[in-house]
Amino acid sequence: MAVPKRKVSKARRDKRRSSVWKLETPALVKCDQCGELKLPHKVCGSCGYYKGREIIKKEA
Ligand SMILES: [Zn+2]
Repeated sequence: MAVPKRKVSKARRDKRRSSVWKLETPALVKCDQCGELKLPHKVCGSCGYYKGREIIKKEA
């Protein structure tokens, strides 16, 4: 079985556990049309609107 050659230093261990690896929370903006949270510069997932126009047709 493979065994680590050296003890991982505190700095290395703690850096691994630290937030430097964690992904940032994605930016969210409110949809102008329905007020749902959506990704900026993307068509709204709940109403299908972008820039005041309906891009994806949703059944009402
Ligand atoms: Zn919307």
